[in-house]
Amino acid sequence: MALDVLSKTLRLPAHYKHMSMEEMHERIHKVRATLGEELVIPAHHYQKEEVMPFADKTGDSLALAQWSSTVDASWIVFCGVHFMAETTDILTKDNQKVLLPDERAGCSMADMANHYQLSRSWEYLQKRFGDTIIPLTYVNSTAAIKAFCGDHGGATLTSSNARKVMEWAYSKKKRILFLPDQHLGRNTAFDMGIPLTKMGMWDPITDTLKSELAGNEEDLVLLLWKGHCSVHQGFTTAQIATLREETPDVRIIVHPECPFDVVQAADVSGSTAAIIKEIEASPPGSKWAVGTEMNLVNRLKAQHPDKEVTSLNPHMCPCLTMNRIDLQHLTWSIEQIALGQPVNQIKVDQQTASSARRAIDRMFQLA
Ligand code: SF4
Repeated sequence: MALDVLSKTLRLPAHYKHMSMEEMHERIHKVRATLGEELVIPAHHYQKEEVMPFADKTGDSLALAQWSSTVDASWIVFCGVHFMAETTDILTKDNQKVLLPDERAGCSMADMANHYQLSRSWEYLQKRFGDTIIPLTYVNSTAAIKAFCGDHGGATLTSSNARKVMEWAYSKKKRILFLPDQHLGRNTAFDMGIPLTKMGMWDPITDTLKSELAGNEEDLVLLLWKGHCSVHQGFTTAQIATLREETPDVRIIVHPECPFDVVQAADVSGSTAAIIKEIEASPPGSKWAVGTEMNLVNRLKAQHPDKEVTSLNPHMCPCLTMNRIDLQHLTWSIEQIALGQPVNQIKVDQQTASSARRAIDRMFQLA
């Protein structure tokens, strides 16, 4: 899929690379004045600071997709990554078009599970465990994976509602196949009281299933897909230990996409919305080390000068694909709309969209 996307991607014309910030701001304001409510710009919490002033709405991927479905704009220029634009296309009306300013803004986690791998895994697991499994996928997955879950009685979930959706799934079947982020699955299930001995991991490269600990395969109730977020997997317990030694009263808050031992060693774990809320609600003078994407940490730091907010790993790289959306690409994207030649529209085919919608609707029904 990645090569396919690259071959079709329209690249930013060279002259945008030499524009000053002022010129880009002027150009964006000009197009917005012309298009008015015909255009909206949702932007994910992990986006670069330079695009945020143009956001009509900020939030996590699902909140932005839901919000986009409530507006009448014909053009939705999504500042985020590919799977988010897909979800937005699935949830919005037929007359609304979703554009991704740089189509190379993918997500390494979403790319760790494709439909072919999942079909192979499903065949193996059905033979091994029979009709005892329900597939669940994190919204950070491709439309094709969501569609598979929709077609097989499963649902999507977010980091905010993972527990609720997993509880629903266990009321239906004995086992869950959890895609594509092993860490969110493991951390949530452990919180629910499921021991590691009842968890196994499916490796989509070698097509093998391994118990997490020396558990009996027959006892496994959670089958984790071997995927991860390259940003959150970079946080370690050594970083936590160093910080606690340097600043004993620091509170550590991490996203549940972080590895199990990191979540266990932190003071708090929660979705991006939960992290934002927790820091907002903390008293002046609070000290926080945050284990999530750098752009959000820097924004929290700027928004709360009365608190000490730092990254759990100040030397980490930001999410490279999130960072592909810059002011140059945003300017280009919306100017192309005004010229009547929109670029990088994200369109999910109807069959995939309706199956994926089924998985998303099951999650909504649990809200
Ligand atoms: S932060 Fe992680 S999950 Fe989010 S887009 Fe980047 S790689 Fe994907």
